[in-house]
Amino acid sequence: MHKKTIQKLCCPFDKADIELTIITTDMDEHILEGILTCTNCQRIYPIVSGIPIMNPDEYREFEMEKPLLEKWEKHLKGKSVENFKLVAKAELE
Ligand SMILES: [Zn+2]
Repeated sequence: MHKKTIQKLCCPFDKADIELTIITTDMDEHILEGILTCTNCQRIYPIVSGIPIMNPDEYREFEMEKPLLEKWEKHLKGKSVENFKLVAKAELE
């Protein structure tokens, strides 16, 4: 999927803008792997093999996405994911 196409997408829940984090692209600058983050509800949508996964929560399998998120952890800006939403990591004190 091309970057320009992705920038036209919005969050399926609240139609808010989504922010794109590019992880890998091919030689034509098509995005192969990336993360879309809703600027409003903070839901994250992975892009896998060029396809954005933007299903409603009930059709998503967190267990299937978990390995991806672990692999992409350094792109999550120190945050973690709960219920498909990006959240600040709980302070462990
Ligand atoms: Zn949203």
